[in-house]
Amino acid sequence: MIRKALAVRKGYISAVSSSFTDADHRLPERKSRIMNITLIGAGIVGLASAWALRRDGHAVTVIDAAQEVGAGTSHANGGQLSYRYIAPLADPDVLAKIPGWMLRRDAPVRFRPRFDPEQWRWLLDFLKACNGHDKLRSVASLLPLSLYSRALVHQLVAEEEVEFDYQRNGKLVIYRDAKGFESARRLLERTPELANEQHALDESACLALEPALERLRGAIRGGIHTPAEEAGDCHKLCLALERLLRKGANPVRFELGRQVRGLHWSEGRIRAVRLDGDEALETDLCVIAAGVGSVDLLRGSGHVVPIYPVKGYSLSIALTPQSRAPAMSVTDFERKVVYARLGPSLRVAGMADIVGADETIRADRIATLTAEARASFGDWIDGAAITPWSGLRPATPSGRPIIDRAGDSNLWLNVGHGALGFTLAAGCAGLLADRIAGREPAIPDADFRLSSTDPERTHA
Ligand SMILES: Cc1cc2nc3c(=O)[nH]c(=O)nc-3n(C[C@H](O)[C@H](O)[C@H](O)COP(=O)(O)OP(=O)(O)OC[C@H]3O[C@@H](n4cnc5c(N)ncnc54)[C@H](O)[C@@H]3O)c2cc1C
Repeated sequence: MIRKALAVRKGYISAVSSSFTDADHRLPERKSRIMNITLIGAGIVGLASAWALRRDGHAVTVIDAAQEVGAGTSHANGGQLSYRYIAPLADPDVLAKIPGWMLRRDAPVRFRPRFDPEQWRWLLDFLKACNGHDKLRSVASLLPLSLYSRALVHQLVAEEEVEFDYQRNGKLVIYRDAKGFESARRLLERTPELANEQHALDESACLALEPALERLRGAIRGGIHTPAEEAGDCHKLCLALERLLRKGANPVRFELGRQVRGLHWSEGRIRAVRLDGDEALETDLCVIAAGVGSVDLLRGSGHVVPIYPVKGYSLSIALTPQSRAPAMSVTDFERKVVYARLGPSLRVAGMADIVGADETIRADRIATLTAEARASFGDWIDGAAITPWSGLRPATPSGRPIIDRAGDSNLWLNVGHGALGFTLAAGCAGLLADRIAGREPAIPDADFRLSSTDPERTHA
């Protein structure tokens, strides 16, 4: 039964990948019942949602506890618009790697056990999702979502003045392990629609394409190059979206520096959002897009989302004319580190620490990331100005976001984007607006519904 479903899904991947064009997925100007919508969270997911909801004519208020938009996990992420690389962290290979990771202090994944039932429940669900069927299921639903997202980003860039160091400079994924490269190459062979967009390269071809990788000569077993992949600065896009949303005939209202303390429920509906200072904002409909903060906002509502913070780190390295930095985005597959050139700096990002909601920037993790970057691109990194950062990925065990209505209430969720929030934000916002308007969603969305997060159903 599962096999049959997956076979259908595989067919669906082919159909979707070959037929998705930007023109098919423009957000048309559409009319639905105009509402007063309160949206909690001014990260990339909340702002993209505000963009899509305003296009439908709604009066939108965006609330965020931070003084500035994009101050949470959207602030200094890896910068990759990774439309073709959407495989979740939950992978059968992960199980074999866990013992090695537990022993190494500089491992890309770190786990610190806590007396926290939410951590253990999430971890158990994550381990259950580390199987081939679930991985394929997530890939099959995430790929159309990411391609839909790409089409909407192209539309945004074509229609509006948004400056965010956006570039289509391609991505090279390098493999240091022959087995890893072989399995990526086989996947390419078996998936003809990927073969049009991706190429398997040997080491010398990788170095010819990206000379800045010269230091790794002898260590690269192969690479997969995707010329059309894109990158950009997520924080700058948040700022650009804010500027855009404040303008025009129906400007979005921003309540920044305002913590949401609770939701005022009555007869199964949210009547108002309670802010600090006990001010209540009345609302027709509420959207939670609050990243890792979404779990607390839902507490006591009877709706549970399986989101746990998976902490990551980044470095923003200032470039000078002497810096030997890669021109294209690079992913070091085994080390789980991504590199993207964003304007005058190189963004280096990685690590997946399951240590609770701890945002401390730990010196040892920054040292590991810096050492990785130095080993790959050169000692010039030691003399460069580096801005370190850490952020909490709002991760679901399956890696799939949740875009759904909470029961039959007027509360909607756009949460759980994990490692792919920048990539998926526009598509998720499009889906959310479609569902709120009662329109047929642009792509199948069953795997992004709350009901699909139940691990028992995942395995059914
Ligand atoms: C190291 C790292 C690298 C990454 N690299 C990439 C990448 O290359 N490509 C990619 O696609 N994704 C990447 N990601 C993932 C991406 O950054 C996230 O998925 C995305 O930023 C999540 O956006 P969000 O809007 O849901 O959350 P956030 O950006 O965290 O926004 C949520 C907002 O809600 C607000 N909030 C929460 N609770 C409340 C409350 N009670 N009241 C008021 N406001 C509240 C917060 O202040 C915050 O501003 C990376 C993540 C990390 C950590």
